[in-house]
Amino acid sequence: MTHTDRSSSPDAAGHEAAARKDFLREKVAQDVASGRFGRPIHTRFPPEPNGFLHIGHAKSICLNFGIAREFAGLCNLRLDDTNPTTEDVRYVDAIRHDVRWLGFVWDEEHFASDYFERLYDIAEGLVRAGKAYVDSQDEETIRAGRGTVTTPGTPGPFRDRTVDENLDLLRRMRAGEFPDGAHVLRARIDLAHPNMLMRDPLLLRIRHAAHYRRGTAWCVYPLYDFAHGLSDAFEGITHSLCTLEFKDNRELYDWLVREAGFDPPPEQTEFARLELDYTVLSKRKLLRLVTEGHVGGWDDPRMPTLAGLRRRGVTPEAIRAFADRIGVARSDARIELATFEHAVRDDLNMRVPRVLAVVRPLKLVLTNYPEGKVETLDAPLYPHDVPKTGSRPLPFSRELWIDREDFMEEPLKKFFRLAPGREVRLRYGYLVTCTGVLMNDAGEIVEVHATYDPATRGGDAPDGRRVQGTIHWVSAPQALDCELRLYDRLFSAPEPDALAEEGDFLAALNPNSLVTVRGAKVEPSVAVDPPGSRYQFERTGYFISDPVDSRAGALVFNRTVALRDSWAKVKDK
Ligand code: ATP
Ligand code: MG
Repeated sequence: MTHTDRSSSPDAAGHEAAARKDFLREKVAQDVASGRFGRPIHTRFPPEPNGFLHIGHAKSICLNFGIAREFAGLCNLRLDDTNPTTEDVRYVDAIRHDVRWLGFVWDEEHFASDYFERLYDIAEGLVRAGKAYVDSQDEETIRAGRGTVTTPGTPGPFRDRTVDENLDLLRRMRAGEFPDGAHVLRARIDLAHPNMLMRDPLLLRIRHAAHYRRGTAWCVYPLYDFAHGLSDAFEGITHSLCTLEFKDNRELYDWLVREAGFDPPPEQTEFARLELDYTVLSKRKLLRLVTEGHVGGWDDPRMPTLAGLRRRGVTPEAIRAFADRIGVARSDARIELATFEHAVRDDLNMRVPRVLAVVRPLKLVLTNYPEGKVETLDAPLYPHDVPKTGSRPLPFSRELWIDREDFMEEPLKKFFRLAPGREVRLRYGYLVTCTGVLMNDAGEIVEVHATYDPATRGGDAPDGRRVQGTIHWVSAPQALDCELRLYDRLFSAPEPDALAEEGDFLAALNPNSLVTVRGAKVEPSVAVDPPGSRYQFERTGYFISDPVDSRAGALVFNRTVALRDSWAKVKDK
């Protein structure tokens, strides 16, 4: 069964739902059991096409599509495109692509911009019922007239316009007779309402601007609250799941769908927004990173966007597993980056082949190995605890590359790798003993010399003697040159947003979020793999050959996530 397959039996769906208990699912389960809506439940994912989707959206996607599937319901994709100045068809395409990539298929696709006429008709209905009026004050005066949390608002001079006068003005607003800001349509509710959002909220405003779908023909744009709940109602949404910052909006949501006569109305329930350490999850901020050139684009592997994570090598399965693992809560919670990285490693560990690659090469010469001889070792692609099999040929010769980090001329305590006089295992190869080094005039080590024990092919000594360290290597004559892009967290501060108040979240950008290493070496077996192939470079990390820039003869690998390195911990103490 695929993740998007909704044809599963009710039993299987129920079982799956029962396996995951959270307050949203409990609520939906009750509504399904009571038959409250008299039809299958219906959810939606409603992004605004003003940027690429990020990992926060993934949480919402997994919830909305996941719940629909678990309860044999439906889920829509709605492009919430009611703002003419920031939206673009490019973002619509990216959103569609990313939702599909995450593994979900929507039942219906809608655009809020298709509802402008319908919303306008509801606006006229509210005017006729005396529940909305045209206000000709500017928005600042309107805001001031709302009062404060402790003081009630005061009615403006236009609140008691007659229905006819309101209808006339509203129609002329729609006809484009007035400039931006000349009038707005407001609900007439209560200027002393304890909920500030209920104090005669704005419903429509004039915007003479080009909308990417509607062009310039339409000029009375619905505000978020007006468009959102009613769009849910138009589509027959039963459960409208949104993030906590919309809690106060729920009262207005309910008022609008009730006044418009929807019965049973859709019901909004809020859940905690995902906040992830060391990054920002706001399209507005991510857009700044792109437009100001702090990253290479929306799909820069350092971005928390789905496009960035994909290029970084993260799989949709890992993102879904992460969404499952963090669950849903009623109050906001920051998630540590380690939690995400765990999910990524767990997923890749079971999925990707192992290969040998050397980040910063240092020549190792086996002085007793015959010159010109090349052996082919048979190296497993997967470790024993992974239910996948296969092997690849691994050339071995007299001259090898090892990582600079794996050799110390004067080893520190707890350094168990290669050092003069010490014997270590070359992964899948032989036991070798370091006999000395070759230095250049500057006193830098250019070669490490060692002897190998021919009786230890495969890595074990027939006499049972043990070595403490195993290091990785690549045979020098056959090694492929490659570029490694070592990505790290984009921000140095766990909460870059917190800095936004004092100045700018950009102050927290990590200057070392990308370290490019040229002249790294990888074993030749990867030469035939297409771009976008994922690997574990043993002892180093998970990598993907860059889907955009990597090509035969000029291989580029992005580090998805490093392996946890116990020596690095000791060393950095
Ligand atoms: P942004 O600030 O990134 O633009 P948004 O909430 O304005 O976020 P929308 O495109 O309007 O973005 O969001 C579409 C859906 O995704 C909404 O239902 C929203 O609640 C949800 N969503 C957005 N960000 C997060 C997040 N960090 N965690 C969980 N859900 C989110
Ligand atoms: Mg938004």
